[in-house]
Amino acid sequence: MKKIFLLLIVATSVLLAKVNVAVSYPYLAAIAKQIGKEYVHITVLGSAKYDPHFVVPKPSLLSRLNKADMLIINGSGLEIGWLPPLLKRANNGKINPGRVGFVDVSQVIDMIDKPTAVSRAFGDVHPEGNPHFNTDPHNIIPIAMLIEHKLEMVDPIHKTNYARNLKKFLNQWYIFLKKFDEKMKSCKDMKVVQYHELYNYFLKRYGIVSVGTIEPLPGIAPSSKHTIKLINTMKDEGVKVILQDPYHEKKTANFISKKTGARVIVLPHDVGAIKGTDTLESFYSIYAEQLCN
Ligand SMILES: [Zn+2]
Repeated sequence: MKKIFLLLIVATSVLLAKVNVAVSYPYLAAIAKQIGKEYVHITVLGSAKYDPHFVVPKPSLLSRLNKADMLIINGSGLEIGWLPPLLKRANNGKINPGRVGFVDVSQVIDMIDKPTAVSRAFGDVHPEGNPHFNTDPHNIIPIAMLIEHKLEMVDPIHKTNYARNLKKFLNQWYIFLKKFDEKMKSCKDMKVVQYHELYNYFLKRYGIVSVGTIEPLPGIAPSSKHTIKLINTMKDEGVKVILQDPYHEKKTANFISKKTGARVIVLPHDVGAIKGTDTLESFYSIYAEQLCN
């Protein structure tokens, strides 16, 4: 009788144990939460307040990696400046690259701006191509599918729950996308410049033209020579919009705005990066609201 009771306790604790999921950025947490629901405990390593290329590798991140059963990263080089040393120090076999618990979502994305030759033409921070694919809401679909697949592998007991949650989430997401795509139609062929090449996936999806960037190359601070050239290009091309992320300096964008009459629009680079963008829907909605009104 005692043995059966003990077995029951063990079985119940296995069923109730949550999967500890560490994610590099908030948008990944938002997706994982939709799929994992009550069966996962999610911890976000990189805050939306900062440049995703340069997360401060605090010791507290190490303990979170130690406890993780699963690690979901953006990949394509976005974490290269901060995560690899932490992962090495955490020495957690469950989440090392190549293990079941390691999930690199860039593997299911059609990458753009891939360098064709070994050169610095793509700047200091995008050597593997453009890693900011989360700005295209359509990319949420393959990412959600991959996360669900991996959760099934890490926690097979709740396989059917994850599959059901994915289905429900995707159904809602398709409805959201339909409305969002419709709103974005009025922005087609619009011309913009951006501070960093953050929005390329979004711009490409909706036929918006990026005429130039305030950074001469990704990760390289603006120079006066480049800024003057950009101002002239904007005047020639009739560019009326400057896309600015929340974490870089805004001085240059404001200066260009004064010289060209273009308006500066601050768009979040991740869920929660600016006020009122705490969900996936509100994060993307602000793009359409700010640009296509
Ligand atoms: Zn970047």
